[in-house]
Amino acid sequence: MTVRDTLLTIPCLQDNYAYAFRSGENVAVVDVPEAAPILAALKEKDWSLTDILLTHHHWDHVDGVADLVAQTGARVWGAAADAHRLPPLDHALSPGDEVTIGTDSARIIDVSGHTIGHIAYIFDSIAFTGDSLMAAGCGRLFEGTPEQMHTSLAQFDAFPDEMLIASGHEYTASNLRFALSLEPDNPRLISRIAEVESLRAAGHPSVPSTLATERHTNPFLRAHVPTLKDATGTADQPDTETFAATRRAKDAF
Ligand code: ZN
Ligand code: FE
Repeated sequence: MTVRDTLLTIPCLQDNYAYAFRSGENVAVVDVPEAAPILAALKEKDWSLTDILLTHHHWDHVDGVADLVAQTGARVWGAAADAHRLPPLDHALSPGDEVTIGTDSARIIDVSGHTIGHIAYIFDSIAFTGDSLMAAGCGRLFEGTPEQMHTSLAQFDAFPDEMLIASGHEYTASNLRFALSLEPDNPRLISRIAEVESLRAAGHPSVPSTLATERHTNPFLRAHVPTLKDATGTADQPDTETFAATRRAKDAF
């Protein structure tokens, strides 16, 4: 069983997601917006939580950690660089470190931009990206610069099309509306909008997505595309400028 075969996508709060999966004797959850829906999902599967993986310090990703630890005794993993503002960590992680959950391992990459010290967990077939690379978008730049986020997201160039991107919020529909304003003729974008509409209408999450889908429809992975450069008025400029202009346009959208 791989991580993706056992993956649970757990809606929390208004529009957050936590993820849970099982590997060998271990059960992990990624981010804890609130404990109750996660405990309910674990109970339904009869899974005992062993590990909590945190992507970044924002309250809507960590608020339920203390409660979940009290009820399960799970150990907590998070970024060493963020340790001063995360709940108490049992294991502080640095970029390049490996986390082993059962028979699966993730490599830690730094994806600063939304916050400084934000990390992503890169398993073979799935990446837990929090508020860095998101479905059809990327996190707002609260702490980092556009250059930093562009560099963070460029690391995904090395990963396979089939990789699942498990991000932290249900923002996909509004992200896609923005993407369409820049690339109104992109056929993959038009079909993704229809797919997400029907998923949401049926009450299903629009995440995780695949990296292939993000490559074809996420403007924050498309700074090299001429249409996007034209739409942001950065035709003769480096991709970093296109990325920054895209992020500014999204903030004002
Ligand atoms: Zn956040
Ligand atoms: Fe968030």
